[in-house]
Amino acid sequence: MTETITYPTPTLLECGLTPAEVGSLRRIGVYGLLDLLRLFPREHVDNVPCRIADLKPGTTVTVVGTLKLFQVTEPRPRLVMLSWTISDGPTKRDQVKALKFSGSPLHRTMGWQRAERAQYPNGASVLVTGTVKQSRFGLSLNNPQVRVVSEDLELSGQAAIQPLYSDQKPFTGTQIGDRVQRVLAALQEQPIPDNLSHDVRAQYGLIEYRAALVGIHQPTDRAQLEQAVRRLVFEEFYDLECRLLRKRQQLTQPTRGAAPTANLRPFLQQLGFDLTGAQARVLGAILGDLQQPTTMRRLVQGDVGSGKTAVAAGAVYAVVRQGHQAAVMVPTTALCEQVYGKLAGWLTPLGISVQSLHGSTPARERRQVINALADGTLAVVVGTQALLQPEVVFQHLGLTVIDEEHRFGVEQREALQHKGAAVHRLSLTATPIPRTLALTLHGDQDVSTLDELPPGRTPITTRVYDGGRQSQVEAAYSLLRSQVLQGHQAYIVFPLIAANAELDLTAALTAYNDLTRAGGRLADLKVGLLHGKLRSKEKESVMASFVKGETQVMLATTVIEVGIDVPNATVMLIHHGERFGLAQLHQLRGRVGRGRYDSCCLVLNEARSETAKARLRCLEQSQDGFWLAEQDLQLRGQGDVLGTLQSGILPFRLANLVIHADILETARAAAMRSVESEPGG
Ligand code: ADP
Ligand code: MG
Repeated sequence: MTETITYPTPTLLECGLTPAEVGSLRRIGVYGLLDLLRLFPREHVDNVPCRIADLKPGTTVTVVGTLKLFQVTEPRPRLVMLSWTISDGPTKRDQVKALKFSGSPLHRTMGWQRAERAQYPNGASVLVTGTVKQSRFGLSLNNPQVRVVSEDLELSGQAAIQPLYSDQKPFTGTQIGDRVQRVLAALQEQPIPDNLSHDVRAQYGLIEYRAALVGIHQPTDRAQLEQAVRRLVFEEFYDLECRLLRKRQQLTQPTRGAAPTANLRPFLQQLGFDLTGAQARVLGAILGDLQQPTTMRRLVQGDVGSGKTAVAAGAVYAVVRQGHQAAVMVPTTALCEQVYGKLAGWLTPLGISVQSLHGSTPARERRQVINALADGTLAVVVGTQALLQPEVVFQHLGLTVIDEEHRFGVEQREALQHKGAAVHRLSLTATPIPRTLALTLHGDQDVSTLDELPPGRTPITTRVYDGGRQSQVEAAYSLLRSQVLQGHQAYIVFPLIAANAELDLTAALTAYNDLTRAGGRLADLKVGLLHGKLRSKEKESVMASFVKGETQVMLATTVIEVGIDVPNATVMLIHHGERFGLAQLHQLRGRVGRGRYDSCCLVLNEARSETAKARLRCLEQSQDGFWLAEQDLQLRGQGDVLGTLQSGILPFRLANLVIHADILETARAAAMRSVESEPGG
C-alpha cells in the first residue's frame, strides 16, 4: 500500500534553510524534507583521504580531520565568509581552511551561521571534499562538501564514498548535497514513514527507509550503499507494479461463468501446418485465461513472421465455439485484407462466418456486416478503426484481438472492448521488447512471447554499408538490381522521423526522382512510392500493385513497417540505418525472407560514431528480435529506447532497467502478492 506521506517536522526552514532557498527548492519540486532527500546523488565516487600536509592547489581531494575553529568575516561588503580550520596532525602544516561563502549582507546570514555552527560543532571529526585553492587566506577548500563522521572512520583511514549531486538551477550539485546533509542531520530523531511494510521488507531482505536514505546520502562503505540502492530501487519498481496490477484488476471483468474448454482439434487440422512449440505454449496460456473467473488481458509479443495470426485465430475459434463473437482490429486496410484472408481461410471451412470491415468496404456490404454483427449471425469480424464507429454493435462480443497493438492509442484499444460485457482482450505486437520493459510498460497485462519462428525460413543475410561512400552505395544498389532482374522484388526505405518529417519526406521524394529519372539507378524498373502524405486510396493502390508484382521496387518511408506480406520480395535496402532503433530495423528486415528465396537486408550507415556502428553490427550478427531489443537497451539506455517506442518516460529517479533487472523481477513478484491480498482483489 502506498500511504499518503505526511511530512515529519521539522520543516525545511527549521533545518536552517533560508526562506529564499525554500522558495527556490519549490521550483525544483521540493516542498518538504522527504522531497529533498529524494534528490538522490548522480553518482558516488571513492575518495581515499589525503594527508593535509600533502595537499596541492588545483586538485580535488577528500581530507579527514578535526574541526578546530569557526570564524565569521566579511572580506568585502555583501560577502560573508565562514571559515573553519581542519587539522589531521599536530603541526601547522597539518591544517587547511574550509571556507563557505554567502552573497547576503551580514545581518541576513544569522540563520545560516547558526545552522552551520550547529551542524559542524567544534571538535567534530569531519570528512571534507573539495578543490584545493591557494589564495591570500593560504591553502583552502572553498564551498566543500562537509560531513561529520565517526572517529573510527578517521582512525581506520578507510576509503570514503562521496555522493555527487546534479545541478538543479538555481542550485549547484554541491549546494544540493549540502542541503541534503543538513536535513539528514536534523532528521536523526524524527520518525520517517516507510512506504514498504514491515512484512515486505522482511521477506525481501530490505532495509528501512531511514537507513536507505542515510545509506545513499552518507554511505561509509560500498556494501551499505548497495543495500540502500537496492531498497530504494525496489520501492520504485514496487510502486509502479502495484499501480499496474491494480489497473489490471480494474480493467478485467468477471466472466459469465466458466464455459467448457473448446476442442481445438478441428482448428488445428484446418491450419495446414503444425504449431511451433512457442505457438502451442502461448495458445495454451490463452485457453487457460479463458477458463479464469476474470477476463483475459494478454499481450503476445513475437517477431515478425512468428505466427501471431494463427495464435489469434485459435483464440477466436475457442471463443466462437463457446458461443461468442470475436472482433479483430488491425491498423491498416492492407493488413486487414491480409488477416481477413487468413482467418476466413481457416475458419470458414469449420462453419464459422468471417467478414471484413474497413474504410473502403462498399456501403451495401458494410450495412450487411453491421446488421449481422448486431443480430449475432456473424461470428467474426476483421476490421480497421472502422470497428470503433458507434453503428458497430455486437450481439454477444466475447473477444477482441488488437493486432499491432502499438499502432493504436490507449483509448482505441479499450474502446473496442466496451462493445460488450466481459470481453476478453488479446493484443499482438511485433515489437519485441526486453522483459524488463515489458514488465514496466505492459505490466497491466500478462505478457507471453513467441520466441520461435516456424520452420523452413531461409535466413536473411544482413550487410551494413558505408552510406557516405559512393562505391558502397553502388554495391548495395547493384545487389538490389540483380535480385530484381532475377524476378524478385525489393523495398527501399527512408527514415521519417516525426521531429523533421517535412525534411525527411523531401529527402525521400528527391531520392525517388533521382533513382527513377532517365539515367538513374532504377530508371528501367517499375518503382512505386509510398509515404504518409498519400491519401489512403493512393496508398492502397501502391501497395496493391506491389503485392500483385506489378511494381518491382517499392520506395517507402517507414509506413511499410506494419503488416504487408510479399513472399517474392527478397531485398530490403535501408537508408540512414543509424537513425532507426534496432527493433525498428529488425522489423523492417522482417518484410523480406517471407518466401522460399534467399533474402538480404542492406543497411546504409551514414554515422561515424562507434556506438552507431556497434549497434548496426548487432543487426548483422543476429536475427533474434529479443536479443536485438536487449542490445538496443544496453547500448542506448532506457531513455533513448523509450523515445523510439514513443512510450514517454518511466517514473524512476534511481531505477534503471538495464542495471536493476533482477530487482524488478522481485518487486513484480512482491507487488503481485500484495495486490492479490488487498480487499477486492
Ligand atoms: P506475424 O507473427 O508476423 O503476424 P504471421 O501470423 O503473419 O506472422 O505468420 C507468418 C507466416 O507464417 C504466415 O504465412 C503463416 O501462415 C505462417 N505460419 C504461421 N505459423 C506457422 C507454423 N507453425 N508453421 C508454418 N507456417 C506458419
Ligand atoms: Mg501479424
